[in-house]
Amino acid sequence: METKQTYTVGIDIGGTNTDFGFVDSQGKIVQRGRLKMADYNEVEPYVKALSERLLQMADGLRGGIDAIGIGAPNGNFYTSCIEHAPNLKFKGIVPLKDMIQQYIPVPVTLSNDANAAAYGELVYGGAKGMKDMTMFTLGTGVGSGVIVDGRLVHGFTGCAGELGHAVLIPEGRLCSCGRRGCLEEYASARGICQTFEELRAQNPAYQGVLAEVPFAELDPKRIADAAHAGDALALQTYERTAYLLGIACANAVAFSSPEAIFLMGGPVQAGSILFEPLKRSFEAHLYVSFKGRTQIRLSEMNANDVAILGAAALTKMPR
Ligand SMILES: [Zn+2]
Repeated sequence: METKQTYTVGIDIGGTNTDFGFVDSQGKIVQRGRLKMADYNEVEPYVKALSERLLQMADGLRGGIDAIGIGAPNGNFYTSCIEHAPNLKFKGIVPLKDMIQQYIPVPVTLSNDANAAAYGELVYGGAKGMKDMTMFTLGTGVGSGVIVDGRLVHGFTGCAGELGHAVLIPEGRLCSCGRRGCLEEYASARGICQTFEELRAQNPAYQGVLAEVPFAELDPKRIADAAHAGDALALQTYERTAYLLGIACANAVAFSSPEAIFLMGGPVQAGSILFEPLKRSFEAHLYVSFKGRTQIRLSEMNANDVAILGAAALTKMPR
């Protein structure tokens, strides 16, 4: 009798799209799909549509689904619920695992998206073979995942690893979480743009390439391009960002002593203008026992694959 090939499904839930893919035993995404979040106001029809698509795709591949891993904003590993995600229309506590299992009765593992990225790096990426690592994801916000002894740290609540909301500057910028001075407000895409905006306001004589660009049209890549071309304010923007991110990374090392800190996301594509000052600030702020021992590295995962592979990798995690 022919044995049916099985796949692990990785699902990445974001504010704009839900991306999903079928991952084979070699860690290759063999097929992918997408739902637009704008099409769903309620969670029930969303889960129904998602589950039906997955079952159709499995049929198309003449295969089965052995497990489903989900990376979701405010995903709680212990309860497998999405809890009060500010960027989703589904409010309150969504019991996503139970809802999906009504359609597809296989093991379902859920965690937040940064945890999924960290675990994906460990299973499929540059952290292969490591037991202790920390991942920062820089984008719209700043997420993090902490791996200790080969396992993601979930903590008492199931929500551990929120280093993006560690307070770095008391009384600093107002954060989307309602408090002030979180790392996210300085190292996210909008944080980097705001740093540039502040520097521009402080330097009225500035006449560089970004002098006339409205705030709404700034983005980290534009500022990075200007910095690489020698623009003084753009360079200062990345130095300031790197300085603060270096402190955050050094604090993360004090907590769990990772072998490496991995960075991923749009803003970390800036290259040397970010990494050189980052490494200086990082080493300068490290506690003495850790100096020279922890690498800071760029994620080796393909940006198009990391969310799906990371979510799929969650299902392989020892419980
Ligand atoms: Zn915050």
